[in-house]
Amino acid sequence: MRWQTLLKNSITTPAALGSRFGFDSGPLRAVAERYPMRINPYYLNLIREKGDPFWLQAVPDEQELHDMVCMPDPLGEEHLSPVPNLIHKYPDRALFLVHSQCAMYCRFCTRKRKVGTGDMVITRETIDAGLDYLRKTPEVRDVLVSGGDPLLLSDERLESILKSLRRIPSIEIIRIGTRAPCTLPMRVTTRLATMLKRYHPLYINTHFNHPDEITPEAALACSRLANAGIPLGCQTVLLRGVNDDPRIIKRLMHGLLRIRVKPYYIFQGDMTEGTDHFRTPINKGLAIMKSLIGHTSGMAVPKFAVDAPGGGGKIPLQPDYVHHLGANLVFSNFRGDICSYQDAGARGQVTGDRG
Ligand SMILES: *Cc1c(COP(=O)(O)O)cnc(C)c1O
Ligand code: SF4
Repeated sequence: MRWQTLLKNSITTPAALGSRFGFDSGPLRAVAERYPMRINPYYLNLIREKGDPFWLQAVPDEQELHDMVCMPDPLGEEHLSPVPNLIHKYPDRALFLVHSQCAMYCRFCTRKRKVGTGDMVITRETIDAGLDYLRKTPEVRDVLVSGGDPLLLSDERLESILKSLRRIPSIEIIRIGTRAPCTLPMRVTTRLATMLKRYHPLYINTHFNHPDEITPEAALACSRLANAGIPLGCQTVLLRGVNDDPRIIKRLMHGLLRIRVKPYYIFQGDMTEGTDHFRTPINKGLAIMKSLIGHTSGMAVPKFAVDAPGGGGKIPLQPDYVHHLGANLVFSNFRGDICSYQDAGARGQVTGDRG
């Protein structure tokens, strides 16, 4: 089936889900009215049972309306937008939102306040304003094209945006952020890949959260993109009950490398209103990182980061291996063995602390 047809056949109301899985969907109606729901037939078919990792990511939950902790715009994006739908937070790169819809509405989405709703207004005018800003702001050398999901645009519309970006000499690299390879892999046609490869250097960061999302269809989508010379990365978010387990994350990281996707980030869940029930303790993330570092290929170890509330940016979090920082650095390795290293220029200063 064509991806457009699949998208059109998406389930968008809890009632349709209730009749399929045989449960009372009444209490979910208010949730889906506040935060849109869309589960396309491909992703729907991944769901095995109520409460499994696919269900948790896709199906509205009453807890979304009872979040007393989090904020609508935790990353302060609206204050960092010189023009609507363009966020300029870091010196040399900008985030450019070019589409308001997604192949599925993830319940944990950071832009839950607006993605898929009438509040996210993206028009030719806002895109032109974004392009104008980028023309006038030559310090931006890296543009992240995101949304919503840019791959929900037609090939032609997406190409016209890429073409305009490529005409701006100060833009060195273009990145596309898309969950389509995971949530609607049929979107990645050979035609799309052939178009994208005209706009190199182009990178794609996708978003898988569970190893079982790496289906033959997802693998094919990623191989089409990789064969078009597009380096692929993955931005995973830690989600309670979905992937907050070292074994699941290790399986995911290995599965990604097998389909030529390099794990890029694992994010601590943002403090986004309606998603508090997904958040995991920071210590859990650090323990997961510790279970990867040294125990498996460095290629399979992404950066673990928390995006600071208020727009502070992404801060890397690392398990602590250092016991003593001085002329003699004392630390433990991944197995817990104590090691030491004599710092440069520290000759003669090191006393008997080698034991
Ligand atoms: C994440 C993000 C970027 C890109 O950050 P990298 O660490 O370079 O991947 C740029 N702008 C905004 C607003 C972001 O949230
Ligand atoms: S695909 Fe990304 S932008 Fe879209 S709902 Fe999911 S997390 Fe949000």
